[in-house]
Amino acid sequence: MSQIGLDFGSSNAQESGTDAVRARIDWLVVELNRHNHLYHVLDAAEIDDQDYDRLFRELETLEADHPAFLRSDSPTQRVGGAPVDGLEKFEHRVPMLSLANAFDDEELREFETRLRRMLGDTAPDHFDYIVEPKFDGLAMELVYEGGDLVAAGTRGDGYVGENVIHNMRTVRTVPLRLPEGCPPYLSVRGEVIFDLEGFATMNHRRERDGQSPFKNPRNAAAGTVRQLDPAVAAGRPLQFFAHSAGEGLTAPSHGELINHLKAQGFQTASLTQRCTGIDAVLDAIAAIGAHRNTLPYEIDGAVVKVDSVALQEALGFVTRSPRWAIAFKYPAPVVETRLLEVAFQVGRTGVVTPVAIMEPVMVGGVTVTHATLHNEHQMVRKPEYCGGLRVGDRVQVKRAGDVIPRVEAVVDEVGRDQRAKVTFPVECPDCDAELVREENPKEPEKVIIRCPNNLGCQAQVEAGLKHFASRLAMDIDGLGDKLVDQLVAAQLIRTPSDLYRLTLVQLAGLERMAEKSATNLLGSLNESKSRPFERVLFGLGIRHVGEAVARDLASHFGGIDALMEASEEALQAVDGVGPEIANSLSRWFSTEANAAEIAALRAQGVEFRETASQAPKGPLVGKTVVITGTLPTMGRKEAAELIREAGGKVTGSVSAKTDFLVAGAAAGSKLAKAISLGVPVLDEEALKAMVSP
Ligand SMILES: [Zn+2]
Repeated sequence: MSQIGLDFGSSNAQESGTDAVRARIDWLVVELNRHNHLYHVLDAAEIDDQDYDRLFRELETLEADHPAFLRSDSPTQRVGGAPVDGLEKFEHRVPMLSLANAFDDEELREFETRLRRMLGDTAPDHFDYIVEPKFDGLAMELVYEGGDLVAAGTRGDGYVGENVIHNMRTVRTVPLRLPEGCPPYLSVRGEVIFDLEGFATMNHRRERDGQSPFKNPRNAAAGTVRQLDPAVAAGRPLQFFAHSAGEGLTAPSHGELINHLKAQGFQTASLTQRCTGIDAVLDAIAAIGAHRNTLPYEIDGAVVKVDSVALQEALGFVTRSPRWAIAFKYPAPVVETRLLEVAFQVGRTGVVTPVAIMEPVMVGGVTVTHATLHNEHQMVRKPEYCGGLRVGDRVQVKRAGDVIPRVEAVVDEVGRDQRAKVTFPVECPDCDAELVREENPKEPEKVIIRCPNNLGCQAQVEAGLKHFASRLAMDIDGLGDKLVDQLVAAQLIRTPSDLYRLTLVQLAGLERMAEKSATNLLGSLNESKSRPFERVLFGLGIRHVGEAVARDLASHFGGIDALMEASEEALQAVDGVGPEIANSLSRWFSTEANAAEIAALRAQGVEFRETASQAPKGPLVGKTVVITGTLPTMGRKEAAELIREAGGKVTGSVSAKTDFLVAGAAAGSKLAKAISLGVPVLDEEALKAMVSP
């Protein structure tokens, strides 16, 4: 096919009638897709960018003139899709399971011992394994029907994810169409990632355009894949690496399966290798680990799979993981840098947290400048800090996954006793109020130091307002963190109710605020007044009242009046509300300023829209149910929903209080426990019969 001349001019095609046009379009699509694969997957381009662009433009022109001949696998269609309104559910026909983890060589050896024990006499003398790098990305399943990409599902809970095909179509390493002779139905699994170079370029561009940079490649990939407008994903260099098939491809070994995936046009990890025996696996893992910092992408481990599919089938699954595979996790990378200063941040509830500010340093592909020091006890007493932090100390910093970086240890250099020791302030760094220590002598490592000034402390005021406006609370569109800071600094707001008193004149008078954005903000503030009670309650930021507690309180009390009147005893009658939460609530509501704030919010038209009190009804009222294993037709979430709708409660573990267990295929320890406790076990069908009216 590559022999066909590139200089076959487009004018010829247009003169020879529609058949020739169609044939030319077909040829261009196939040829461009082939070059795409050569360039992006095989890294073996046959033509230069200019020739590629020329063919691409010719195809665009022909398609524009003859829209009837447009093919869904045309490379021009990677960028063109329309935004979607929302993400649809994607059900995995074969659940997307997770892998068990190993953290050291010993655990890997145990893995092989376990394989041997489970297989007994049928165990081979030597196990053959495939070792693959484990990408720190986002798991994805691509579905092809008749060779065409028809769906792309995120992992979700392993049973149901979200269909993000509109974005996955834009990924150059995802084939839009499989070659001739492909399986009629194929689901391919793999990871979506940003390589480090693409990530750095993208962040650079974002900063230049005044957008906040992404924290790490994985977060960026997750955020990109879930965008509603595919134009966003098309502009970002996402990659897809295939590592297994859900359905449609079979092979006697995992190694051969990988070769089949390559033959279908997929990109697979280059460091994949076959090893005989666990010692060879340990060597391979060490070799991948040694390359880790020079790889063009982030990995957080290596995956070890038994190569033989016959053995895989004999070994089977335990609850959510295959028994024949294990993920080895490399220890999080540690780097050294200098401590420049310790800042003290005041959070929403007044807790003061020490934050290390350091010379910028790269850790696992990300530039780090800040790290949490947790609290005073950690800062001063942590043995690894060699008698307390000193400004200028050489420090070891660790970043694990997307967790905030930590200062692991201080290097005990000669002469560091000459440097000034960092001490915890006695007064609030923001409002100068005297800080209050909350200590428990039994747990000195959990000391909390707090600014008691609440509404008098600007840092707390700002953090509280940001929380109130946030997506899970009042979801006030257009009121970002920077604008909150600006409004507080301009002394326009201090409390949530002040937000609803803002005027167009005040807003439009702010720096960098156009009249249109001001009008929009007033619109979203107005709209937020009708948020349900539970969201307003969460938004108030009462200590210990998170989203779930707010929801439970709202459905129990119905409205704000009943909640405010409730005694601590009445509060504790709510599921999940203990003495600490009850006390926090009653203290909050009995504080005059807070009661005044509730009244002010109401006066501004915030509805505290009551949740219809839900007296439970249905055949499962009062029943506690546990679900385990893979159900034949329903996802687990779906089954849980069904049980809740019927008035039942779904919990995670089997106990004597469990009324029954719904078990599907590959049910493990929960089933065994239910049987031993005499808890009745139902299958999906029996559950359906029980809840049907
Ligand atoms: Zn303060």
